[in-house]
Amino acid sequence: MRFTEDMRHTTPEDNQAGLFSCNDGIYPAGGSLEGDDSLRPGNPPDKEAPVMPLDPHSDKALLHFITTEDPEETEALFAAAREVRSSHYGRDVYFRGLIEFSNYCENNCYYCGIRAGNRRLKRYRLSLEEILGCCRLGDLLGYRTFVFQSGEDPWFTDDRIEAMLEAVRGEFPDHAITLSIGERSRAGYERFFRAGANRYLLRHETASEEHYRKLHPRRMSLRERKQCLWDLKDIGYQVGAGFMVGTPFQTPKNLLEDLRFLRDLEPHMVGIGPFLPQEDTPFGNYPPGSFEQTLRMIALTRLLLPRALIPATTALGTISPLGREKGLMAGANVVMPNLSPKDVREFYALYDHKICTGDEAAECRLCMEGRIRNFGFEPNMARGDMAGWEARKFPRAGVIQQ
Ligand code: SF4
Repeated sequence: MRFTEDMRHTTPEDNQAGLFSCNDGIYPAGGSLEGDDSLRPGNPPDKEAPVMPLDPHSDKALLHFITTEDPEETEALFAAAREVRSSHYGRDVYFRGLIEFSNYCENNCYYCGIRAGNRRLKRYRLSLEEILGCCRLGDLLGYRTFVFQSGEDPWFTDDRIEAMLEAVRGEFPDHAITLSIGERSRAGYERFFRAGANRYLLRHETASEEHYRKLHPRRMSLRERKQCLWDLKDIGYQVGAGFMVGTPFQTPKNLLEDLRFLRDLEPHMVGIGPFLPQEDTPFGNYPPGSFEQTLRMIALTRLLLPRALIPATTALGTISPLGREKGLMAGANVVMPNLSPKDVREFYALYDHKICTGDEAAECRLCMEGRIRNFGFEPNMARGDMAGWEARKFPRAGVIQQ
């Protein structure tokens, strides 16, 4: 495994020497990207960007970039993606405070460490007071977006989610509220929207029916998952789809299908991370996805959906010590530091070796800020709605807009 073996902790002397750290690693303030001039910290983005050699809107070109390992082509792709990102968002990177409030899940996705069948995992649910405590801390640290994430936990009925949203919305009227709690009925989604949720993340994971069947038990349905995304969009949420790169049995054509699906759906947010195995799952012995291919998928997504909000995911930071920074250099523009209580972090174990499980929320916030500035980006703590986003002015049938 190449995940964390080269990581160590900083000392006070390191910090004086200008090294940023958290409990998951250390990197020099000047970056450590030998031989990779384009990614040198502080480089003005894309002053002499290579020319993008192929039309990213043709399937042939997409397939080519999904698989190419040519360094010049890859850099041209990343440079084009940065250019597009800069034209809509400048150098800003938006911060979202992530609150993982329950690791119970009734599903059994073969790749996921919090699947119901994982009996070795210690389960937890945060109380409403604990959730509000995370929000208050996040607010103090400057966050204006809260992301509430859980498995598909039946204990959190629509009534309970609605009550949670009303409590959060009551205390934080101006913050953006994002839900990431899986598949629910359209009626449920409408209730949550009315209660104050603005955004919803629901990765489709793979857009290929054949591939979906190899990653999920029979009772789960890709058609229903896609329908949830269309429903969420129709209701008025800013919607996030997304997928993993390098899941078992995935082919380049599957990744092309993912991009085509994104092109059709036009989500406002797209989460893309490498597949990382978790040892207590059926896929525990499969190799991780390719870091480089994940970066290329981020860049292609940026070109297809120029205004999308694309996180540099924790999974990227797990597979490579500078993974999130390189994700930003490939076109991402969001980070999601963790606001969950420290004592439960390790139990939200989607995959092995997950970073940022040992840090206080304030440490995560500061660490990310340092990393981002070090690469010439500007942390932005505002709500960070998608560029050009306008909430609907008038209620649709049964839906109150905000
Ligand atoms: S991927 Fe989501 S739905 Fe599937 S087991 Fe994990 S938390 Fe549950």
